[in-house]
Amino acid sequence: MQQPSRILIAGAGLGGLCAAAALLQRGFDVDVYEQAAELKEVGAGVQLSANGTRVLAALGMAEALRALSCEAQGKEIRHWKTGETWKLFDLGPLSIERFGFPYFTVYRPDLLEVLASAVRALKPDAIHLGQKIADFEQDGHSVELLLESGERVTGAVLVGADGVHSRVRQGLFGADRAQFSGVVAWRAVVPMERLPAHMARMVGSNWVGPGGHIVHYPLRSGRLMNFVGALERTDWQVESWSHRGSCDELAQDFDGWHKDIQSFIAQIEAPNKWALMLRPPLARWSVGRVTLLGDAAHSMLPFLAQGAVMAIEDGFMLARCLSDFVPDEALQRFERARLTRTTRVVEGAAANKWRFHNPVLAELDAGRQFIEREWAGARISDRYDWLFRYDATTEEL
Ligand SMILES: Cc1cc2nc3c(=O)[nH]c(=O)nc-3n(C[C@H](O)[C@H](O)[C@H](O)COP(=O)(O)OP(=O)(O)OC[C@H]3O[C@@H](n4cnc5c(N)ncnc54)[C@H](O)[C@@H]3O)c2cc1C
Repeated sequence: MQQPSRILIAGAGLGGLCAAAALLQRGFDVDVYEQAAELKEVGAGVQLSANGTRVLAALGMAEALRALSCEAQGKEIRHWKTGETWKLFDLGPLSIERFGFPYFTVYRPDLLEVLASAVRALKPDAIHLGQKIADFEQDGHSVELLLESGERVTGAVLVGADGVHSRVRQGLFGADRAQFSGVVAWRAVVPMERLPAHMARMVGSNWVGPGGHIVHYPLRSGRLMNFVGALERTDWQVESWSHRGSCDELAQDFDGWHKDIQSFIAQIEAPNKWALMLRPPLARWSVGRVTLLGDAAHSMLPFLAQGAVMAIEDGFMLARCLSDFVPDEALQRFERARLTRTTRVVEGAAANKWRFHNPVLAELDAGRQFIEREWAGARISDRYDWLFRYDATTEEL
């Protein structure tokens, strides 16, 4: 097969670095351009279901990841007011038995470090920090990238892995406005020893309530507990990974929730707060020798915990396509192979807003019946099995 000489990647987030590692392993020359002066992810958690850990294992990262992760024993649904608990699904050995790979919860900076180390082990100077992409041009044979520094670089293919505000996406399809989803998210991590013993467990909990939900799960071998609180609000629309909210405002947002939530929030010292924004879905991602992956291609609400996992699957599938086909065809095949799945994930995440925040949850009996119906075993299987079974290492291209 003819291999393009050099692949340029915009953005060293989870998706860009996964694509870079997969491409380097297949013998491509890769350069990644990242606007930030240092590689960083917000100090919070990310859940990696079996469809994501399968890809990371194929990239040789299983052991490094295991050493830094928690293997969640299961996930549960909890009632916002009463604290009653329902099983969402068992994980631990069952994830491996059913889907072949573990379900990990990972501290984001740790995951980024694993990915960046894998890339640098293959090409020490592959990641160019403090290099913001300003524009690009392509002809039938190559792509030229213009960096804000004024430098120009040429490659055979450009991959826009530059997140929800993607410059590459704008260059391909014109400017579009990010839309506020109507949900504000709070985020924090708390040392596990500060939580009551009955909460310090190796399970993921999803508290559902009228107009909001809270997810918490363990990180770093159980030394930290991750907190995400999502609430429907229309009064604040700043999207940022680093905007500090106040503890009082956070407590007020979840006033009236169960006492476990109150004691958790009381331990949070520096919550981050931001408005969740979405871009309209795209019908195509690839034009000539330029394509998109991850949030640049398919931003979604984080309510199915699959945005990063989709970016990881994208990166691996893209590398397989570029290995097997000439660039233009490879990018078309990549898009075709990914569009249906990622669209279904975007829709599934949006449907969880309705499920997690349903107004009926304000009423005790009707709310309980709603939970029992929506989280009945067969419905859970319908929502998750197809997701976790997907194998980006063998899926048809
Ligand atoms: C509250 C919350 C919880 C979540 N939980 C989960 C979860 O549990 N599991 C899961 O799978 N997903 C989760 N997600 C989703 C996940 O975080 C994203 O889908 C994922 O980070 C997307 O990765 P990416 O590489 O596509 O983009 P990003 O991580 O946004 O990376 C883009 C990179 O491009 C760089 N960049 C941008 N513009 C330029 C430019 N012009 N030039 C150079 N560089 C540029 C940025 O600096 C950044 O480093 C969650 C999201 C949120 C908000």
